[in-house]
Amino acid sequence: MKKALLNIDYTYDFVAPEGKLTCGEPGQQLLPYICDLTKTFIDNNELVVFLIDVHKEHDPYHPESKLFPLHNIEHTAGRELYGELNTLYQANEANDAVLWIDKTRYSAFAGTNLDLTLRERGITELHLVGVCTDICILHTAVDAYNKGYKIVIHERGVASFNQAGHDWALGHFANTLGAEVV
Ligand code: ZN
Repeated sequence: MKKALLNIDYTYDFVAPEGKLTCGEPGQQLLPYICDLTKTFIDNNELVVFLIDVHKEHDPYHPESKLFPLHNIEHTAGRELYGELNTLYQANEANDAVLWIDKTRYSAFAGTNLDLTLRERGITELHLVGVCTDICILHTAVDAYNKGYKIVIHERGVASFNQAGHDWALGHFANTLGAEVV
C-alpha cells in the first residue's frame, strides 16, 4: 500500500508561544516526533505533503473571520513552519516527494488539488500529523474517510488547545472513521 504523510498546519501561528492562534505547549511538544516522522518518510522516498492554512488580512466573507482571530496571513512569518520542521522543509523543498499545498478551510481536501495529487501517485494510505486534532486534523480525516483512504493518526504527532476536544477526536478517528491510531 502506497502511503503519504500529511503534515497539517504546524506553523508559527498555530504552535509558537506567541503565535496568533496557538495550541501552546501541547503543540510545541510534537516537534521532535513530527520531524523524525517527516525525515523517515523523506528517507524512504515516500510522499510528504505540507498542507498549510492561508488567509488574507481582510476577508469578511471567509467563515473563520467571525470565529477566530486573524492567523496564518499570507506573506507573514506566522505561516512559516515551526522550529526545526521549517529547516527540514527548506532542505528538502526541491524533492519531488515533498510538496506544499495551501489550504483555506479546515479540511486539507476542501478547494485544493490534494485528492488528485494523491491519486496521481497511487497513494491509498494517509498518515496525519499536526494541529489541531479536533479541527483541521479531524476535518481532513473525515474527508479522507469519505474518499476511501486508509487513515493512520499519529497520537504523538497531533495536539489541540482544547484537551477535551483532542481526546474526543482520538476516539472518533478510531471508532467512527476506522483509523489506526498509533
Ligand atoms: Zn484558518
